[in-house]
Amino acid sequence: MGRRPPRTSYGYLAPSGARVLGWECNNDGCGTGDRPAPPSWPHPCRECGRPTDASFDEPWAHEARGYKIQHHLHSTDRDVREMARLERHVWAYKEACFRDDAPAADRAWRAYRRARSPLWQEAEGDEPAVALSRAQQWLRTATRADLTALLPDVEPSGAPGGHPYTDPEYWAAFAYTGA
Ligand SMILES: [Zn+2]
Repeated sequence: MGRRPPRTSYGYLAPSGARVLGWECNNDGCGTGDRPAPPSWPHPCRECGRPTDASFDEPWAHEARGYKIQHHLHSTDRDVREMARLERHVWAYKEACFRDDAPAADRAWRAYRRARSPLWQEAEGDEPAVALSRAQQWLRTATRADLTALLPDVEPSGAPGGHPYTDPEYWAAFAYTGA
């Protein structure tokens, strides 16, 4: 357990009691991360050498995710913004579940269903490869909790751990079947 990490690149400052699980690189296109938490901050990414963010245990991970989604909503990258618009419904669903607020959970679920369709289909004017890469990116970064929140009746398969579909074995199949 390292010292209290600094504010993340997306603006989340964890309380001093927050449990840090490891580090993650949120720099453009890097996506590297590992456990355990580094002994000190700042901690440079072993791939790109730029500063990394702490990754947290729940419930701080959920708080942090909310900040990251807000940050991504203002991204200059259109794909990142679109993903964040979808993810905020997932976040709202989890938030409602934490609060035992069934009507809010239902609203978030419906909003997610409405927002999801354009993502999984080809957006107007998009190359199929763009839609495919977006769907793959979502699946790779989806946590087990995300998947359970979206598909409560389905036990997520995939690898054990926080991100069951990180392995290309799962998302690469979209290349053949389409998104
Ligand atoms: Zn990196």
